[in-house]
Order: sequence, then structure tokens, then C-alpha cells
Amino acid sequence: MPQINTTGDFDTEVDVLVVGAGGAGLVAALAAHEAGATVAVVEKYDRAGGNTGLSTGSVPGGGTKYQAEAGIEDSPERMAADLLRQSGPHEAEWLTHQLARQSAPMVEWLREDIGIELELITDYKHVGHSVPRLHAPKSRKGQDLVNDLVRALDEREIPLVLGHPVQDLLLNADGQVSGVIAAGERAAETRLGAPNIVLAANGFAGNREMVREYCPDVADAEYFGAHGSTGEAVAWVRDLGAKLENIGAYQGYAAVAYPHGSITSWTTVEKGGILINPSGVRFGDESTGYSGFAADVIANGGHAYVVFDERIRDYVAGNELEFRELVEMGGVKVASDPAELAAFFDVPADALTATIAQAAKDAESGAQGTPDAFGRSDFGFGPLTAPYAMCRTTPGLFHTQGGAAIDHDARPLKADGSVIPGLFATGGVAVGISGQQGGAGYSSGNGLLTAMGLGRVAGAAAANAPLPR
Ligand SMILES: Cc1cc2nc3c(=O)[nH]c(=O)nc-3n(C[C@H](O)[C@H](O)[C@H](O)COP(=O)(O)OP(=O)(O)OC[C@H]3O[C@@H](n4cnc5c(N)ncnc54)[C@H](O)[C@@H]3O)c2cc1C
Repeated sequence: MPQINTTGDFDTEVDVLVVGAGGAGLVAALAAHEAGATVAVVEKYDRAGGNTGLSTGSVPGGGTKYQAEAGIEDSPERMAADLLRQSGPHEAEWLTHQLARQSAPMVEWLREDIGIELELITDYKHVGHSVPRLHAPKSRKGQDLVNDLVRALDEREIPLVLGHPVQDLLLNADGQVSGVIAAGERAAETRLGAPNIVLAANGFAGNREMVREYCPDVADAEYFGAHGSTGEAVAWVRDLGAKLENIGAYQGYAAVAYPHGSITSWTTVEKGGILINPSGVRFGDESTGYSGFAADVIANGGHAYVVFDERIRDYVAGNELEFRELVEMGGVKVASDPAELAAFFDVPADALTATIAQAAKDAESGAQGTPDAFGRSDFGFGPLTAPYAMCRTTPGLFHTQGGAAIDHDARPLKADGSVIPGLFATGGVAVGISGQQGGAGYSSGNGLLTAMGLGRVAGAAAANAPLPR
């Protein structure tokens, strides 16, 4: 339980204290500073970034000027409809609509006011989006996004206190949030006071016990995110009485390259690739998306192989640096004959040959609008053709999406609808917009939308200048 700070003594006091220096926290700090507040950010580790640093840095904006310049017609309404189609019904549908409305202004604010290098990705669409709307650093590396945000903090002289894990929240004698205690192996105990605290410490994907409790279908999946997501901030708000919503939602990834540990781009699948189990057999509708399909892989033997062709390999490697690096590291094998390909991975040759032949028929029927036995009809470029390509993969958990119920200004809500004054929840600490069906409701970009979108909402509200909704 959060502690009572009876003396009210603090080492430092600011108007807005932000816990966590990933995308959510850094954006919250910038928004609070812009609204005139004194701000500080306190981070567990010696470097800012968290999961944001590991991501591709893809931030959705529905109806940005960059989309218009590229001739793409989009709007908040279209974006919300897309996200809700993927997520299905959930406990915070209002938030899907609010974040969709705030997404284009956020992307434009990041680029034009804060000076973050983001460009619209037009080469391909992403899971859950009917038009291209993700904006990312040129490198597609989230750490570049983080570095730009940290530079923006530096320019504004916003203190970023690294290497200070927050251990607990402090309350004043009235039970109101008043500060935090930060202490670590190499940091003396420090008491930081603030009447407004933004929790931007991400979710609990790195906490096995909490994953087992809230997301049991991925309890045994390997966690591929940053070490800092250990769920303490979710536990603090829960212990203060916040209601938890959409708590079983997460971002999974069906195809982390094994043993390389990098992403086998899902574009390989969207362009016509299929996933097979160790017996060389397809087992589901891959168009569910990389997140939802992770649970299928777990249920079908725990690892899988992505089968595509050289044409798709070259297309994706030409557009995506991380995939190109995987190819250069030898993570993708190519052979003109399915039996030869099967031999690389010790998969039954007959089964793989038959699976590829059937997939070619399915792709042809799919092009005529007839779905295959699993319900898939979109095979991108069409039937796979020799030379074929293949990569061994394992399913992973990237981050959790559910958390504290919040109001329009990101204040955690109790079951009776009252707010916890002085507290704000963003990213993985707050309820997400990815539904109530495990990983299947996740659309690309939902992670950074709820992190940075809510970060901006929380930072502005904490500085007493709420954003338009
Ligand atoms: C491999 C991978 C790829 C992804 N790709 C994308 C993508 O392209 N687009 C997208 O939208 N999402 C993506 N995601 C998800 C996305 O990265 C996260 O949802 C998002 O980065 C969360 O941002 P955040 O600021 O809330 O958390 P983080 O970026 O994780 O930041 C939280 C910070 O809080 C710190 N912290 C934690 N506890 C404490 C504490 N007690 N005291 C002080 N500090 C603390 C952590 O150390 C961390 O630095 C991806 C995730 C992974 C793992």
C-alpha cells in the first residue's frame, strides 16, 4: 500500500512529477512544461527508453496533414472504426474515440512543435488499419524517437533523474497523493514531492505472476520487452482503489525470429506468407494479425516457421531495416524446392511440399473472394512461387494493454466513479483500447497511441491545462 508521508518533507518539489522515461513519460513532461508547470521525470534505469526504445516507434495519427500530402484520405472517425473492428467491444470504447480524435494533432505537435523526426509509413498498411496512418522515425527504431524526446527535454531544461526506481507513492495526512520515494542499489533514498503525479511506468508484461493472473493465455510466452515493465504502478493504483479494465489485453507477437530475437516482419505474412507448425502444417488464419496469432502458435506446439518467397523477402528487406538485418544475419533460408527448404529446419518435406501447394490454391481462390479453410482470403502478392524462403520463429509477449480505468483527463477511477486526486495514468498503467480478447484485439500502434496520446493528455491535465477532447 502507498505510504503516508506525515512530515511532508521532500528533497525536491515540482508541480508535476512523471514516473518513467519512455514515450509516455517524456511526452507527459513536455506537455506539462508547455502548459507552464515545473516538471521532473524520474526513471528506474540509467537510460531513458523502456519499451518505447525497443519498438519501431510507429505512432498512429488519423487524418494528419502528412497523410493528406500523400493523398491518403483518413479521419478520426475512420481510425476509431478500424480500431474498434479489430478490438471488438470493450470497457473503454470512449477512449478509442477520444484518442483517435487527438491522434493527428499529437503527431503534428510532436513533429512541428517538439521537433521529433516522424514520417508517414506509406509502403504498407498495418494490422487493424484500413489506410496507412503510422508515423515513425526514418530508421523505424524507437530509440531514435526516445533520443529526440530526451533532446527536447534537455532543450527545455526539464530534469530527467535516471537510475532512481520509484519504490512507492507517498500520501499526505488527508490521503492525497503528495510525492514518491525513489531508491535503488546505487541511489540513496530520495523523496520527491508533487501535487500531481503522472504514472508512466508501463504495464506488467515483465512480471510473470501478474501475467499469469491477468493474461493466462500468454503466461508461458517469452517476454521480449524492456525489463522495467514490472507492474508496480498498476499495483499502486489498484491498491488505491482504482478499477482495472480491459486487463487481459496485451500485444503478442507470433513470429519473433529464433534464435535471433528480432521481429520477423509480419509484412512477410501480409504479402502472402503462411505460418506452419513443426510438422509442416498450417494451423490458422494468419490474417488475425501478429498479436492475436501468438496464442495460436502457443497452442500449436510453441514454435513455428514463417514460409514466404524470395520476392517477398526482397520487398520487405528493401523497406524494413530490422528485417534486412535478420536476412543479413542468415535468419532467413531460401531454396528453390520445398524439400530442400524443409531440410534446413528438419521439418517433414512431404508435409511442407503439400502445405505450400495447398496455400497456392488458397491464394488463388482468395483472390476470387473465397476464403480458405481457416477463413483467410487475403494473400497479398498471391500464390508463393519458387524460390521459397523460411524462418524459424517463436511467439512472444511485447507489452500489456489493460490497466486502471481513467476519466477523460487520464485520472484513475475507482469503482464508484470517483477519481484519485493528484494521480494520472498513461500507457500500460491505464486501460488500453485493445479490447477483451487477449492479444487478438491489438492494432499496430495501439501501444504508442495509449502511451504518448495519454501521456500528452495526462501532462496537460496535470498542469491544469486539459487538452481538447
Ligand atoms: C519489440 C517491441 C516492438 C513494439 N513496436 C511498437 C510499435 O511500433 N508501435 C506501438 O505503438 N507500440 C509498439 N510496441 C509497444 C510499445 O513499445 C509500448 O506500448 C510503449 O512503448 C509503452 O510506452 P510507455 O512509455 O508507456 O512505456 P515504456 O516505454 O516501457 O517506458 C516506461 C518507463 O518507466 C520506467 N519505470 C518502470 N517502473 C518504474 C519505477 N518504479 N520507477 C521509475 N521508472 C520506472 C521503465 O524503466 C521505462 O523506462 C512494441 C513493443 C515491443 C516490446
